[in-house]
Amino acid sequence: MLNDILTPEESQLMRELVSAAERIVITCHVHPDGDAVGSSLGWAEYLRSLGKDPAIIVPDQYPDFLQWLPKTERIIRYDKRREEANELLKQADLIFLLDLNQPSRTGDMAKAIEAIPEEKRIIIDHHLATTLNCRLAVSHPEMSSTCELVFRIVWQLDAFDELTRHFASPIYCGMMTDTGGFTYNSNDPAIFHIIGLLLTKGIDKDKIYRNVYNCYSENRLRLVGYVLYEKLKVFAKQRACLFALSRQDQHRFHFIKGDAEGLVNMPLQIKGMRLSISLREDTEKDNCIRISLRSVDQFPCNKMAEKYFNGGGHLNASGGELNCSLAEAIDIAQKAIIDIESFL
Ligand code: 5GP
Ligand code: MN
Repeated sequence: MLNDILTPEESQLMRELVSAAERIVITCHVHPDGDAVGSSLGWAEYLRSLGKDPAIIVPDQYPDFLQWLPKTERIIRYDKRREEANELLKQADLIFLLDLNQPSRTGDMAKAIEAIPEEKRIIIDHHLATTLNCRLAVSHPEMSSTCELVFRIVWQLDAFDELTRHFASPIYCGMMTDTGGFTYNSNDPAIFHIIGLLLTKGIDKDKIYRNVYNCYSENRLRLVGYVLYEKLKVFAKQRACLFALSRQDQHRFHFIKGDAEGLVNMPLQIKGMRLSISLREDTEKDNCIRISLRSVDQFPCNKMAEKYFNGGGHLNASGGELNCSLAEAIDIAQKAIIDIESFL
């Protein structure tokens, strides 16, 4: 069931490229989430089991609730150590691009990624087909997460036995976060077969859940209360809703990165709700609004993100960015909601 992710040619090529490479870099998308960080750490463990010493470069900050993952102290942040990271990228024999399908998803790193010769780039991703030319693209949108994909590759390459919980826990973490704790996009029985295998490495999945989902500050919990009570706008006819967080709101609750995580899912707890949109004003960049969309069943929020929010993503989880005021962005989001039928 788990041995068919790579074609024989791809397996062979993967083995050859890794074996020939001395300096390897792993990177992922901006605002790295559990899947981006988890797959990067997991893939690094695999490469280490082959005697390699890969560098992990992430474009910017990842949420605090991922800090407990083993070996995060080795992660290099591009926004903090740009020169060192650029040097590593320039000298790399091989670069793995994880959980992303286009260079622009690496934010400020995009130029450095594009400058790397095509034959040195390998993509491992579960978003829609990649637009980046590379030596090898392991692109499987049917996978629940890049972590699941990394597991399957490692399994197929016969490396799982050698690996420890330092591989299993980041992989489990990313599979869990990309499926909302296995509550969406997770009906493939193989997912649970994989979890069974990961548990044999001695990971504590209950603790991983608590580490990720029950680690809020008091401020964050009160922010949730405030958003749901005062900010949520429900469009009953469209069975959709939205809320927007201004800079002022964020200051009031001492907002730190990651505090918005998961918030956008909550309105979907309303019976019959099929779409939730959140807007958040960037606290540093002017006229920069981050949008997140979540949906249930077959509602394609990636299509809506493309049409209205310069973004994209998955059927049920997408995002985008608008360069305008918060009021203007809310206006656009309302128009998108009014237009909801056109996406069905
Ligand atoms: P989030 O709401 O967690 O920021 O993003 C949810 C998903 O939407 C991400 O996993 C990613 O696939 C996609 N996404 C978020 N922002 C963007 C964006 O600006 N452009 C594109 N193409 N996809 C995005
Ligand atoms: Mn992902």
